[in-house]
Formats: sequence, C-alpha cells, structure tokens
Amino acid sequence: MAQRFDAIIIGSGQAGPALAGRLTGAGMSVAFVEREHFGGTCVNDGCTPTKALVASAQAAFVARRHADFGVTVGGPIGVDMRAVKARKDAIVKASVDAVARWVRNMPGLRVYWGHGRFTAPHRVEVNGEELEAEKIFINVGGRPLVPDWPSLKSVPYLTNVSMMQVDFLPEHLIVVGGSYVGLEFAQMLCRFGARVTVVEQAPRLIPREDEDVSEAVRGILAREGIEIRLNARCIGVSPADTGVVVSADCAEGAPEIPGSHVLLAVGRRPNTEDLGLTAAGIECDERGFIKVDDQLRTNAPGVWALGDVNGRGAFTHTAWNDYEIVAANLLDNDPRRVTDRIPIYALFIDPPLGRVGIGESEARASGRPTLVGRMPMTRVGRAVERGETLGFMKVIVDERSRAIVGATLLGVNGDEAVHSIVDVMYAKAPYTVISRAVHIHPTVTELIPTLLQSLKPLS
Ligand SMILES: Cc1cc2nc3c(=O)[nH]c(=O)nc-3n(C[C@H](O)[C@H](O)[C@H](O)COP(=O)(O)OP(=O)(O)OC[C@H]3O[C@@H](n4cnc5c(N)ncnc54)[C@H](O)[C@@H]3O)c2cc1C
Repeated sequence: MAQRFDAIIIGSGQAGPALAGRLTGAGMSVAFVEREHFGGTCVNDGCTPTKALVASAQAAFVARRHADFGVTVGGPIGVDMRAVKARKDAIVKASVDAVARWVRNMPGLRVYWGHGRFTAPHRVEVNGEELEAEKIFINVGGRPLVPDWPSLKSVPYLTNVSMMQVDFLPEHLIVVGGSYVGLEFAQMLCRFGARVTVVEQAPRLIPREDEDVSEAVRGILAREGIEIRLNARCIGVSPADTGVVVSADCAEGAPEIPGSHVLLAVGRRPNTEDLGLTAAGIECDERGFIKVDDQLRTNAPGVWALGDVNGRGAFTHTAWNDYEIVAANLLDNDPRRVTDRIPIYALFIDPPLGRVGIGESEARASGRPTLVGRMPMTRVGRAVERGETLGFMKVIVDERSRAIVGATLLGVNGDEAVHSIVDVMYAKAPYTVISRAVHIHPTVTELIPTLLQSLKPLS
C-alpha cells in the first residue's frame, strides 16, 4: 500500500526546498526525498565551500603582497590547511543546518532519507517504501564526470567532492580540465602554496569564452606561477614515485607531467541513470538530461524537472529560477518561462569573470550589425587604488535595437558590476539608459557608462 501525498520532491538541491516551502504553504502534503545531504551540491561541495576556500586563498595572496600596500609583517606568510578547511566546514555546516531547519519545520512535509526511484508514472520507491502523488518534482542535480579511462583504475584521483576533505597541501596538484571548476581550484591551491599544473585538451582555457577572455585568464593564472598545458590529447594517468603521472601528449612541452595528486574537473553528468525514468515514461536526451518544456514540465504528465538535471542551466541561480518558474505557473497563475531568463554567471577566480548574454564571437557569428566597447581595468580608478588592475571589460550592443546583448567583466568586482548591465537587459531598455546614468565614484561600476560611451562597430 503506497503512502499518498499531494506532491513528491526528489532531491534537496537548490530548487527542492524552496518549492517545498511554497507547496506546503499552499496546504499541500509533500514527501521530500533526499539520499545524502540537505542543500545539494551548491551548499555541500559546490558554490559555498569553494567560495569559502577562494576567500582564504585571496587572504593569503593579499597577505603576501603586503609590501605593495606599505604594510609590514613580522615573518613569512603561512597557510594552515586544517584551519582553512575548518573555516570552510563551519560555513557549510551553518548553511546545511539552516536548510535542514527550514525543511523540517514545513507543515505537512515528511522527509524520506534514501535513494528515490520511479516504479510507475506517479509512484516513487524509497528504501522499499512506496510513495504516490499526482505531482512529482525531480531536483536530483548532477555529479562529477569521471572519464572511462582504464588508467583511472590504477590511481587515486580527486574530484570537487573529495577536494572538500583535503586538509593538507598537495605538493604538486595536476588539475585535468581548464574550465570553470578546475580553474577555481587551480588558483586557490596555488595561493595556498601548492605547485599547480592545469592540463586542458582544448587549445585554450575556458574554450566557451571569447579568445581574448581565455588569453587574459591564462595570463592571470600564469603570472601566479600556475603551469598551463593546452592541446593535451590522449590524457591518461598512471602511478609514479611522485604519486601520479599525467600523460598529456601535448603539442607543447613534455608528454608526461609527474605530480603528487590529480584533480579531475572535466565536466558534470546528471543523476538520472538510476532514477527509474523508464518506469515513469520520462524522456532524457542523449547525455542523460531530462527533457523539459519552457515551463519545466517533462513529457510525463504531472512530472517536472528542475535544476542541473534538466540541462537548461548549470548554476544555483538557474536552479532557483526553475523553482520560481514552476511555483509561478502552478500556484500564482503567472506564466513564467525558462526562455525569459538571460544567461549570466561568474568564474570565481581572482579577479573574477562576470558574464552575461552573448560573447563577441557569438555576436560575430550572428552576422548582425554589432557595437563593441572594450576597456582595460587599468582605466578603472578604483582598481588602481586597490592595486588590482588585471583584466578588462567588454560590452556588446545590437546596433539596430541599441539593446545590450552581452558583457564580459574580467576584473576586480566584475562578478558584482555585471548586474548593472543585466538589469537593463531585463528592462529591455537601450544601452543609453546606462551610458547616461551617474554611478558612484570611485567604483568599478562607475566605468560602465564610460565603456558604453566608447562603442565601436565590430570589425
Ligand atoms: C565545484 C563547484 C562549484 C560551483 N560553484 C558555483 C557557483 O559559484 N555559483 C553557482 O551558481 N553554481 C555553482 N556550481 C553549480 C551549482 O552547485 C549547481 O548548479 C547547483 O547545485 C544545482 O542545484 P540542483 O538543484 O540542480 O541540484 P544539486 O544541488 O546537485 O542537488 C541534488 C540533490 O539531489 C540528491 N539526489 C540525487 N539523486 C537522488 C535520488 N535518486 N534520490 C534522492 N536524492 C537524490 C543529491 O543528494 C543532492 O542533494 C558549482 C558546482 C561545483 C561542482
């Protein structure tokens, strides 16, 4: 006999708890199924801990630069990795506890600890117990992609999950994957004092970005001493006296890189293969992401998929927005859509990269008349005063409509300043709304009007 609920939520990611709050607030009974931890990836092994670690790494970096600011320090700057981890753990625990309290205090909600799996269209099994509901919400997220290299059987490797347990300084960390996750770890470990090599198979780092962005990020990391190996084909690992050897078969440099530890940061995969989706008739794409429409409904009636698992976003803010879209459609008679969303994200190296909308290469490929403004961070007074002038700002405008269609802010506070641009994009206002605005002096955002006053046709 199945337990009946109005709704079942599988997974306590970024969308699940908030949706549970709205559903229970509307008087529904909800079964909340989680197999590992409250808060999902972001809180436990993603955004929160990595940004806590990035903050420790930045403190070490600034401390080492003390003389640049006229500050004297009594001795060498050291990093206590156990204390760094303890600080990170305390921040994570506070977040997890807050989510747990929030969920457990929802009236009409029952938590089921265990792996949830569909056994029929409206039925989910957890630890041998059958649950039934008219509405089911899948928020199971993803996990690190581990390539099927046979060599991985012979060597221990780290992922973003096991990195969370690291309370020592690796002697030489080899980061396989020169994209968003890998680069954050690479810079932080380098700043903690490890030797770091990034091995990337593409000809440049973060290959989805414009070439000038990849090159600037490479320069920023290289000047801190991070070794970068591009064009690495046939990557493999094997045990060695040093710990591990990564064979890279690089177009440049030695084909083998001996290190002490290897971190795999080569992408993520959705947690869908053991979810019983066939029993419920739910369709996935060829990469395992659940197919959804613009309101996040799967092809199976009464089943929605939210967060990373639907392949429509890979961020906490997109998962949260998914929750808002589903709640608005279900409970508020408000037809919000995924396609209302403007792509925005950051790469939290230091200085950070704030990105919104399309890049220059995409604008070029569109063939539409486009205006571009570009300015080095050396022009930004606040950056000069802070001694952080690396990077540049770039904004892309559609010449006909005068709408801003994208921006790249690689520089101090770029992850914050980018919101000045996205809000005008959401307002569907012309770029002149910002270019004529008065911003506070001296701030990084202050230069965005000036940037927009320097637009030139894309050559
Ligand atoms: C290293 C790293 C850094 C990141 N940094 C950022 C950042 O700075 N900013 C940002 O926006 N995003 C960041 N992200 C991405 C962000 O973490 C994810 O986009 C976000 O967590 C997605 O949330 P979600 O709701 O899809 O599910 P998740 O957070 O992945 O949660 C899914 C939950 O479902 C549970 N689950 C899975 N299968 C089952 C099952 N069958 N039964 C029961 N429970 C199940 C899991 O245990 C998990 O708790 C980062 C990711 C990584 C890996």
